Amino acid sequence: MCEFCHKHGEGKKWYLQTQNYAEDLLSDLRRRKFIHEFFLHPEHLLETEKQINMLNRLPSFMRAMISPFPIGIQKKEHYGQVVPIEDVEHVLGFVNSIVRLPCICRQANLGSEQRYCYGFSMVPDAESQMGHLVRSCGAEYLSGPNTSGLEALSRDEAVDNIRGLEKKGCCHSVWTFMTPFIGGICNCDRSDCMAMRATITLNYPVMFRAEYVAELNPDLCNGCRQCMRVCQFGAMGYSTANNKIIIDPRRCFGCGICRSSCTKDAITLSDRSEVALAANLW
Ligand code: SF4
Ligand code: SF4
Repeated sequence: MCEFCHKHGEGKKWYLQTQNYAEDLLSDLRRRKFIHEFFLHPEHLLETEKQINMLNRLPSFMRAMISPFPIGIQKKEHYGQVVPIEDVEHVLGFVNSIVRLPCICRQANLGSEQRYCYGFSMVPDAESQMGHLVRSCGAEYLSGPNTSGLEALSRDEAVDNIRGLEKKGCCHSVWTFMTPFIGGICNCDRSDCMAMRATITLNYPVMFRAEYVAELNPDLCNGCRQCMRVCQFGAMGYSTANNKIIIDPRRCFGCGICRSSCTKDAITLSDRSEVALAANLW
């Protein structure tokens, strides 16, 4: 179990605990201000990335001394965890409203509105403070080019859409807005997602790995390598000796994207705690 499971989930998966989605957490004025600023200023993400790059240019001992402080703040404010599709479906099963909204990372990176993110609430959309808060930002990218703003979706629509994104290779993750409140799920790829870039490319973690690790059944693998093409974490190799792929549990984030790309059902997800090489890697 990750640090948040112990702190915010009583030893169970913290993102499956309904109290972490509770509407009354939004009565905290600091949290409301944080969410408002977050959606109003996507350019802050680019600034943060610049600061991480500056940190990376420091001598390694200085970086090791300094980086725990901003990462600690990140854990308190806006931190994520990779989740496989079955856990996404579990969450969508207990929330009471789901809206699709533009991805703030893609807005910052590409300058265009791309609807990859899903916000939740435990109350119907019309009563959701989160929806009101985000809409009230008046951010340009929330109203164009599609002027419908946040789109309310049924659970089935959301599951279908997110499954479709998984087929495109997107990795799912839950995100806090002033931890432990969870406001939504992102569907990311490494080239556009600032969080994945920070965590994997810049070695500055802003999201935990999933509570799972991928494992291969070599008897079912035919060596087609389709799974390797979709793994965004560099966790797979290929053995020419036996014509099968190899999964490195020390690099695997447990997203399950390889699993859904495999037509031979050769990949499963196991509990991270049961895989010795990965049990303590977050
Ligand atoms: S997609 Fe499946 S069959 Fe193909 S290499 Fe990967 S595990 Fe093996
Ligand atoms: S090996 Fe599979 S589960 Fe692990 S990070 Fe790569 S795609 Fe995700």
